[in-house]
Amino acid sequence: MGKMIISVKDLHKQYGDFEAVKGISFDVEEGEIFGLLGPNGAGKSTTLEIIETLRKKTSGTVMVDGLNLDELPNEIKKIIGVQLQTSGFYPSLNLTELIQLFAGLYNETVDPMALLDTVNLRDKAKAKYKELSGGQKQRFSIATTLINQPKIIFLDEPTTGLDPQARRNLWELIKDIRAKGTTVIITTHYMDEAEVLCDRVAIIDAGKIIALNSPDKLIDELVATGFERPKEVKKANLEDVFIAMTGHVLRGEG
Ligand code: ADP
Ligand code: MG
Repeated sequence: MGKMIISVKDLHKQYGDFEAVKGISFDVEEGEIFGLLGPNGAGKSTTLEIIETLRKKTSGTVMVDGLNLDELPNEIKKIIGVQLQTSGFYPSLNLTELIQLFAGLYNETVDPMALLDTVNLRDKAKAKYKELSGGQKQRFSIATTLINQPKIIFLDEPTTGLDPQARRNLWELIKDIRAKGTTVIITTHYMDEAEVLCDRVAIIDAGKIIALNSPDKLIDELVATGFERPKEVKKANLEDVFIAMTGHVLRGEG
């Protein structure tokens, strides 16, 4: 294993009487795509937002690139990319202007066109956020995480509600971002997505990590218990039909 860029130890989060995160520990390796999986309410967003310095933990230790969250939260903020709330996407500004605004907030100078190129939105440079399709909105939102050239980006359910092609476009984008050396932490409810994208996944249930491994190893472990699928699956599924019929151009989503 390479260098650990995130290290979470015995993290707890209490909301009043309710313990949402019950002592979880995990490490994320630099350059990996790490998935947090689990049912709604499992504590995924709480965990991410604590690491992102946006939420206070109750106890535990969080280290990000050697920085202790308790001591240097502002230093952590500088090296991470977080998807901004869409409420910050002022309706009167176009995408170029929004990027310039956010860059100003980060004290960074960016080339808006180059950034829009990375998410394949150059031709929407003069469009308003609300005029974008669902997939384009998510791509723009991911672009905003890259403004400060972060070492790590956090994506909380980036593909929820997207159509199959837009989802695949986002997979390609996330792989490109990782290929440039950025560590990616992602949550998703789509297991096919986690299987394709994630080097390792942690499965969280009711505030505890119940499994942590590569998707491949987790599948092998289940098979080793004697598990078999109830019926033989066909060579294609309905999603394959959909993609085949509506076109499979990965970057051309309208
Ligand atoms: P996930 O992202 O896995 O769906 P969350 O981290 O959003 O889960 O929530 C975990 C649990 O904590 C849920 O039961 C949720 O209702 C509760 N919770 C989340 N935020 C708050 C809050 N601000 N106040 C009280 N309870 C909360
Ligand atoms: Mg959540």
